[in-house]
Amino acid sequence: EVTGTTIPPLNGQQGPWALFVLHDITKQKKLEAVRKDFVANVSHELRTPLSIIKGYTETLVDGHHDIPGADRDKFLRTIQRHTERLNSLLEDLLTLSRLESINPGLRRESVALSSLIASIIDDYRARPAAAEHQLHFAIDPTVGELLIDPLKVTQVCENLLDNALKYTPKGSHIDVSARIRDQEVEVCIRDNGPGIPADDLPHIFERFYRVDKGRSRDKGGTGLGLSIVKHIIQLHGGRVWVESTLGQGTAFYFSLLVRANG
Ligand code: ADP
Repeated sequence: EVTGTTIPPLNGQQGPWALFVLHDITKQKKLEAVRKDFVANVSHELRTPLSIIKGYTETLVDGHHDIPGADRDKFLRTIQRHTERLNSLLEDLLTLSRLESINPGLRRESVALSSLIASIIDDYRARPAAAEHQLHFAIDPTVGELLIDPLKVTQVCENLLDNALKYTPKGSHIDVSARIRDQEVEVCIRDNGPGIPADDLPHIFERFYRVDKGRSRDKGGTGLGLSIVKHIIQLHGGRVWVESTLGQGTAFYFSLLVRANG
């Protein structure tokens, strides 16, 4: 698998060079395995909605005179739901591929984090789905302005809030807080929902990883939300992590660098 010229001995010592080449092959193999996995996952995710859309469309086309109106409406709504699912999947895939490209398009500007979070929460409070939850936020007033891409950090907050809304029952509490810790601002989105099993926690940020596949799909999830969160925060030089206790709730954290003087 190694192509190219033979590596000349360096002061008669070949060891480090041979090691380097081996290391490179392992990395290439790993990348190839990840790519294959990814293609298999995407194909699998596309197949279900496509076959449902195909099946219902064929039924409607073949038997449209005999299908009672109520059934026809039900079929059409199913087609619509699965088309939306395909659309979300495609959007999340494009977002991920942009974030992973050489130019991920990070547009940093000076942003007051408290105003950004306040406006995100306001938007959520106006949504019917959020009316069933208790949404609160508390931002340490010393947090101030950060050099971040406001649209991308908004997407991070939205993905985490969407999850908190999706995976907790009606009436649950969702608290967003931010404070300064060392040289970072730490943002936390905490819910008092069902929590995530300890075995699943190490994998939760992987693409297409879901604790409960059926539930995620029913809620319109693509399994890519947390992967997008991780990429955006890492592009900002920050960290993302999760703490969760079954039956008590989940807290997702992300950190962003405090802006250097002025
Ligand atoms: P999805 O599109 O499935 O929501 P994500 O990457 O956003 O994909 O999340 C991955 C999985 O993590 C979800 O399918 C769900 O099982 C779990 N999860 C995420 N957030 C929460 C939460 N707040 N409470 C419980 N489980 C969660």
